[in-house]
Amino acid sequence: MKYKLLTPGPLTTTETVKEQMLFDHCTWDDDYKKITLEIRDKLLGLAHVSEPEYTVVLMQGSGTFGVESVITSVVGDEDILLIAANGAYGERMVDIAEHAGISYVLYKEDYDKVPSAEKIGEMLRENPKITHVAMVHSETTSGILNDIESVANVVKGEGRTFIVDAMSSFGGVDIEVGKLGIDFIVSSANKCIQGVPGFSFIICNSQKLKESKGKARSLSLDLYDQWLTMQKDGKWRFTSPTHVVLAFAQALKELEQEGGIPARAKRYEENNKLLIEKMGELGIRPYIGGEFQGPIITTFYYPEHHAFSFPEMYEYIKERGYAIYPGKVTDADTFRVGNIGEIYKEDIEKLYEIIKTFLEERR
Ligand SMILES: *Cc1c(COP(=O)(O)O)cnc(C)c1O
Repeated sequence: MKYKLLTPGPLTTTETVKEQMLFDHCTWDDDYKKITLEIRDKLLGLAHVSEPEYTVVLMQGSGTFGVESVITSVVGDEDILLIAANGAYGERMVDIAEHAGISYVLYKEDYDKVPSAEKIGEMLRENPKITHVAMVHSETTSGILNDIESVANVVKGEGRTFIVDAMSSFGGVDIEVGKLGIDFIVSSANKCIQGVPGFSFIICNSQKLKESKGKARSLSLDLYDQWLTMQKDGKWRFTSPTHVVLAFAQALKELEQEGGIPARAKRYEENNKLLIEKMGELGIRPYIGGEFQGPIITTFYYPEHHAFSFPEMYEYIKERGYAIYPGKVTDADTFRVGNIGEIYKEDIEKLYEIIKTFLEERR
């Protein structure tokens, strides 16, 4: 059975992106290395930065591999990482630090609140030994969009290194990486660029990346070594996901054709507004709502007095062409709907009709 994904990565991609994967490309071929170099170049452009101040590393694996690569490669043995977490992905950074034996301080915020830049500033002033600050931009757990601008100002003001997990926002929300002074920003192939899963990418402050030489705790996730090889001529250090790379190159072309990040961001925002409005008509309210609701994914409370389980609703919707997500916040019973990928107004309207009928049948 075919269905579209209303999950925030993997997401629904175009046929033309998928078609690129029908060819088995040679990895040491010059054409292939050129594709890798072009991808890296375009990613710098999307982040509003350029060489030599910034550079890009592509890393095999899912998004978490990218975050783990950064944290375990750039935070040295003598360094302390401040992690601001208001969801499962922020907490995953804690898990990464624990596994690698990295010293960290945790600033835990409620899932429906954005981490406060003021509070982070206080923590940095109180503890001058903190060298790095890490946080998530779009917390996919709830759908909240964290205020990385204010935090970046504070972190830069205090002269620390800033690491951002922009997995589910990069390409779908415009981020002035250079202007904000973000040192490492991570995203992956299967989110807003609308490629398929298989690698993550990290836009790095070149100077900070070079300073990380020899600090990595893992061989395969060594950010500096990966960069060193890739920087020569576009060759990946170990076997790369060739099919995924070809699909990603096509996805980048299609992002340009759509009108770049501004056009894509507008489509996602409109999808998201319509989604929240239509669900509201059914008595289904967002968990975040208001100014911090991000344009990527929305957590919804079930309608009042509902008498069905998530699997029941999931199956009903899936049979009619869409896959949604279970809730992930810990303090409320919820479900989630993503609106990124090849998703348009018509899809949101169809989803509304499906859920409307589902609720009527169960009344
Ligand atoms: C998707 C996502 C990740 C990475 O998850 P993977 O399952 O490893 O791809 C990390 N952070 C955020 C905020 C995400 O949305």
